[in-house]
Amino acid sequence: MNDVLLSIVVPAHNEAQGLDLFFGRVIPILETITRDWEIICIDDGSRDDTLNVLLHYRQADTRVKVLRLSRNFGKEAALSAGLFHASGKAVIPIDADLQDPPELIPAMMEKWQEGYKVVLATRRSRPGDSWLKRKSAHWFYRLINRVATIPIPENTGDFRLMDAMVIDHIRRFPERTRFMKGLFAWVGFSTCVLTFDREERAAGNTTWNYWKLWKFALDGIFSFTTMPLHVWSYIGGFVSASAFAYGSYLIGRTIFLGTDVPGYASLMVVVLFLGGIQLLSLGIIGEYVGRIYRETKQRPLFIVEQKWGFQDTHH
Ligand code: UDP
Ligand code: MG
Repeated sequence: MNDVLLSIVVPAHNEAQGLDLFFGRVIPILETITRDWEIICIDDGSRDDTLNVLLHYRQADTRVKVLRLSRNFGKEAALSAGLFHASGKAVIPIDADLQDPPELIPAMMEKWQEGYKVVLATRRSRPGDSWLKRKSAHWFYRLINRVATIPIPENTGDFRLMDAMVIDHIRRFPERTRFMKGLFAWVGFSTCVLTFDREERAAGNTTWNYWKLWKFALDGIFSFTTMPLHVWSYIGGFVSASAFAYGSYLIGRTIFLGTDVPGYASLMVVVLFLGGIQLLSLGIIGEYVGRIYRETKQRPLFIVEQKWGFQDTHH
């Protein structure tokens, strides 16, 4: 029943301008590999003409399938929706803006046929991104790879080939906070790495801004390591030890030298320092509690408003 060899999963949010270029470049490449491909496009609550353009391509070729989410759920959720619906023996998520070169797909398929379950595409350069974005990405990976127990490959986006078996495991993850790169790395399997030069966006604009990226980075850190929680035991221990030492010194001084009133400065420093540390640690605990709260609500990851090209055996 399942004869799809290769599923391409494309989350698209306000990408109407770039989709012609996208299909124009991707479909010929897929045709050189197999006729049994499908392209699953997820319209992630676009406010422009994205849906109509997608449906136009679906009319021309029914192997183009379309999911429409009921609102903008964000790239991670859109990607999840696509992965849930992918039926290929190999699955490749790719950005609609052609920043991930589809020319790499045949090489990925070759590696997959050699037996690798995951083929990563690592970017050698990211010319479309600003200096700040490159730097912040670099620091993020350094940080997360130092504290998290599983390494998350730097310079590797969601563009990668995964065997159906890998996707099957990812589908079964119950968690709501979906830091896909982390989940992809977490499942493991035999992995091979290809490198490419990242291109600039073909059309349109990125809808990420630094605030979104910051929240995304926090999701990555807080859902892949509990290190920020543990670190307070050490900081607490250190602060208590210092407080004890300072307290002993103060008691000794009072006993031997008698009382003196001044002490405003040291008192203030200690109070402010402790206050600051407590707020910070509460904040960190809050980050986890908030995420636990979100997980316990068990809300669906995304809501599909309408589907084109899927039998209802899927959900
Ligand atoms: N995207 C999405 N939902 C969003 C934001 C982005 O589906 O809320 C899609 C977007 O259409 C593109 C991909 O995710 O196909 C990557 O987005 P973008 O190019 O803006 O991010 P960047 O390349 O800067 O990481
Ligand atoms: Mg992009």
